[in-house]
Amino acid sequence: MCILSNNAIQILEERYLLKSKDGCAIETPQALFKRVAKFVSSNEEKNSFYETQFYKLLSSLKFLPNSPTLMNAGCKNGQLSACFVLPVKDNLESIFTTLKNTVLIHQSGGGTGFNFSKLRPKDDLVTSTNGTSSGPIGFMKIYDAATEQIKQGGKRRGANMGILNVDHPDIIDFIRSKSSKKTLENFNISVGITDAFMNAVIHNLDWQLVNPRTKKVDRTVSAKAIWELIIKEAWLSGDPGLIFLDTINISNPTPRAGTISCTNPCGEVPLLDYESCNLGSINLSKILKFHNDIYIIDWKTLSKTIHLSIRFLDNIISVNHYLIPEIKAITIENRKIGLGVMGWAELLILLEIPYASEDAIQLAKKLMSFIKKESYKASENLSIERGAFTNWKDSLHYSHQKLRNATCNSIAPTGTISVIANTSYSIEPLFALAYNRVGILGGKTQTEINAIFLQKMKAINLWSEEVESEVIKTGSIQHIASISKSIKSIFQTSLDIPWYYHLKHQKAFQNHTDNAVSKTINLPETATIQEVSDIYMTAWNLSLKGITIYRYGSKDHQVLQKCSLN
Ligand code: ADP
Repeated sequence: MCILSNNAIQILEERYLLKSKDGCAIETPQALFKRVAKFVSSNEEKNSFYETQFYKLLSSLKFLPNSPTLMNAGCKNGQLSACFVLPVKDNLESIFTTLKNTVLIHQSGGGTGFNFSKLRPKDDLVTSTNGTSSGPIGFMKIYDAATEQIKQGGKRRGANMGILNVDHPDIIDFIRSKSSKKTLENFNISVGITDAFMNAVIHNLDWQLVNPRTKKVDRTVSAKAIWELIIKEAWLSGDPGLIFLDTINISNPTPRAGTISCTNPCGEVPLLDYESCNLGSINLSKILKFHNDIYIIDWKTLSKTIHLSIRFLDNIISVNHYLIPEIKAITIENRKIGLGVMGWAELLILLEIPYASEDAIQLAKKLMSFIKKESYKASENLSIERGAFTNWKDSLHYSHQKLRNATCNSIAPTGTISVIANTSYSIEPLFALAYNRVGILGGKTQTEINAIFLQKMKAINLWSEEVESEVIKTGSIQHIASISKSIKSIFQTSLDIPWYYHLKHQKAFQNHTDNAVSKTINLPETATIQEVSDIYMTAWNLSLKGITIYRYGSKDHQVLQKCSLN
């Protein structure tokens, strides 16, 4: 069993370890990993063999599944998936049935995505009552209020993705809906963008907004004006992001089962209505070996880890407790899973490759294409052993490969599991070399210096009081004259890295990820509106599935803040 960091122990104790009625932890972290390994191997013929394998996988911190699996595996009616998309049709029955299902999902630790574009616009006619409709944003506020009140078993508040397509008559209000800091706080919002809209922006054409109830044109606006409003709001508050619906549907593996109109809250899994997906991430900082005094990637260990992780994630679909029959039906038909990574920035630091470099991009492509190839091999092996997913014959995979799972890979944010694994988030660069971590447990602020940075600086005799105080003050070493350019480039942090390198990393991982990549393009406070426009446009040109930016300081509350003693 790997030694856990203090942060990991604290988070596990607060949120993940089983508790007695009076709130005391009744299991150790080791027992948690045993509980999960035992339950997730319970469908195996050789279950004690796989229980041991899974226990080793988890307790070595080489791989961790998404939070609901760690929290709920082996518990009565344990719901194990993180990602859901639910339909919202244009009637109160559907709106409130979905709200009820949402609350149940949040209570179990899952997050939900909704595309509200089928709802008639605000003030449109409601014939049954001779009244007028509240419109999508009015109903989103009700969903938001429900989310606010339902804490996940007292552990964390739920998360939602809200999407409105760019041709909905209420799109302007939607784009502005998070302008005021206190509204829709439990939603990430994204505009559903089509290629037709992007062409209209580029050619400065008119754009029609269409009432989804009557299918008639409500009014015509300038595409460019909508684009500029999106950009201004994103610059101001980080919302809205974009999701590129045409790009997503080109790689929809099961088009006959439906069109995809939505993703889960952080965007890494495009899903059909009622579909769910369970995620897991490989800790890249644990797949290195020391050879002739330098670190190199241990491809053999990586391959073994991938095969076992895919089996683990596929088992979850079989042993999971499904909250409603509709979710069970489509999830079992497609068996979508999302194996991703965390610790990418730390791997690059250990290999001494700057994040903002072509070497890093080339390695990202090589690494993720290996992960995808091995994931598909593992899924193919499972299809031989257990059968292909039900919709396989109707899927895009049919002419290529027999698979157990309609999708295999997603790059999730790993917001909590990377803290448990004590590594850097997902494929993000280090946010800062020292930071105040606020609010992870809603408690007091803690100052931390990144351990790998500290270890490296000490190893090369560069750690001094001067460096320490600068790092604690600014979170960066970029302004310390005595440190060489090459060391500085290895330790560039999120805000030091030019935005196009953030995008290049997203693209490199997206190219070898069948679902999607959750990535935030972090920008300094000084970033301009034009830069945000360039980023969103480049994201579409690169055929990314979605894009989110965050300009430092543009939200009241940030989980991670650059260190400041002032
Ligand atoms: P974790 O590290 O806790 O496993 P991630 O940060 O990787 O989770 O997020 C993965 C997905 O889990 C998100 O896209 C979302 O679907 C879901 N999720 C994350 N945080 C929450 C939350 N607070 N409430 C509900 N769902 C969440």
